[in-house]
Amino acid sequence: MSERTILKRLPNRLEPRKLAYSDTSFEGSVSADEVPRLLEATRSISNVKALLRFFVDDRKNCVINGSVSADVVLECQRCLQALEPRQITAAVMVAVVNDEAKAEQLPKDLDPWILEEPEADLYLLIEEELLLSLPVVSYHKDECLDPSLYSTGDIEAETIVKRSNPFDVLASIKGKNEID
Ligand SMILES: [Zn+2]
Repeated sequence: MSERTILKRLPNRLEPRKLAYSDTSFEGSVSADEVPRLLEATRSISNVKALLRFFVDDRKNCVINGSVSADVVLECQRCLQALEPRQITAAVMVAVVNDEAKAEQLPKDLDPWILEEPEADLYLLIEEELLLSLPVVSYHKDECLDPSLYSTGDIEAETIVKRSNPFDVLASIKGKNEID
């Protein structure tokens, strides 16, 4: 089986089933404005990349397997300032199916991509996978606001626990043993 790899800018419209039957791999990038929902969910995005292989598996499913990634700048939900840029990645393991009924029949390790038409929008798939891999919450690691502005004082106890050194506990156990 000959495997073709196509590099650079990823195509938008393509025919996944056809590509699967010719075992085709794509490696390339997508510009930020081509994934508008991801752009809207973040402060900014860059380096949107994907490495995807289209093939037919031994159960005759047209499978797309690979990974997508992007560098994103998220907003701290506490102080509403930008966080350090970070990379998000998602593993892609989808099967192209004609309808909901076929989707139900897929094994658990394959996510359905329901396509009635032969042609599909690859950017939509990439965007969807990246949206799903965004963290549910995003905060600065350190306190970015005066704790009194958002807390009732519980935060103080939390800080003390964090600061206690686990080796202190070890040291005191060790000390006891030595006495015994
Ligand atoms: Zn913050």
